[in-house]
Formats: sequence, structure tokens, C-alpha cells
Amino acid sequence: MTDWRDLIRDVPDFPKPGIVFKDITPVLADAEGFNAAVEAMAAPWRGVVFDAVFAIEARGFILGAAMARALGVGFVPLRKRGKLPARTLAQEYALEYGSDRLEIHADATAPGARVLLVDDVLATGGTLAAALALARSQGATVVGASVLLELAFLDGRSRFDPGLALEAAATF
Ligand code: AMP
Repeated sequence: MTDWRDLIRDVPDFPKPGIVFKDITPVLADAEGFNAAVEAMAAPWRGVVFDAVFAIEARGFILGAAMARALGVGFVPLRKRGKLPARTLAQEYALEYGSDRLEIHADATAPGARVLLVDDVLATGGTLAAALALARSQGATVVGASVLLELAFLDGRSRFDPGLALEAAATF
């Protein structure tokens, strides 16, 4: 059986020169690979008590929804600007050029709900740090974060709360 990590495709110079994009679509397209990847993400969290996955748009949704099903918890989308219909809370965060914004429904979970943050790739850590701040502003208690891939050379981990677990299913 193919190791799911071997299905990750490096695409040089996407979305701009100098970036090596970690393309996970071949993992998702392979039944065994997708299952193994989700199991690898879910494994550290079995036995941890929490209520919902807070998943980051867009690829975080794919993995986060599968994780929620695997772990028997709810799913809450953290979306880009202007996509959620009801009252939202927002968190701005810096990108290399300019800024972006994550939003959550203000009533997505009850105050004090225990949640796990999920995304596909941890790079500089700005996105996950924004998700952490947003979840806390919404009243959630964050139990940790789960990503499929960590780009360790960018040290994004250092931008996350050192008191929380951050699990990566694969590290490059
Ligand atoms: P960062 O905020 O720098 O940690 O970037 C994380 C977000 O950008 C994630 O939501 C990823 O989907 C995306 N991302 C950043 N770098 C890459 C990369 N080299 N390959 C794939 N996705 C990336």
C-alpha cells in the first residue's frame, strides 16, 4: 500500500515564484490515502474530550469535516470575509502582502465549548494564530490544533500557544 505522504505533490512557484505549494489533492483522490491521512490526524485526539472541530476555509474544511465524523464531534466553519450569513465575529491577520480576515458565527458554539482547530498546512502560523484568537473571542476553550502538514523550517509553531498541543500528521 502506498504511504499517503508519498501522494503529496510539490508544485513549485505556486501561487507565486519561490513558493513550493504542497498539493494534497492526490491524497484526497485516493480512497486509502485519504482514509489514512484522516486517521493519522485523528489519532492523537482520540480520548481527548471536546465538542467541535473549528475548521479553516478552504482545505481545512475537507479534513475538518472528515475529522469531525471520525471523532464524533460537531463541525464549525471559520470562513473568509463575508461568507457567513448570520451575525459574525472577525479576526484580521497579516499576510506577506496585505491582510486577510477569518469570521465565525457568534453563536456557533455555546460559551465554554471545547474545540479543536483544524487546517491543512501550518506554514508561518499566522492563519492558525488568527483562528486561535477568533475561537477564544467567541468564548470557546481551545484544546489544541491539528494540521495535516507542518512546514517546520518556517517555525509557525512558535506563533501558537505553547501551552496547547499542536499535532501535525506529517512534517517537512
Ligand atoms: P500560514 O498562515 O503561513 O501558516 O499559512 C497557512 C495557510 O496557507 C494554510 O491555510 C495553507 O492552506 C496555506 N499554505 C501556506 N503555505 C502553503 C504551502 N507551501 N502549500 C500549501 N498551502 C500553503
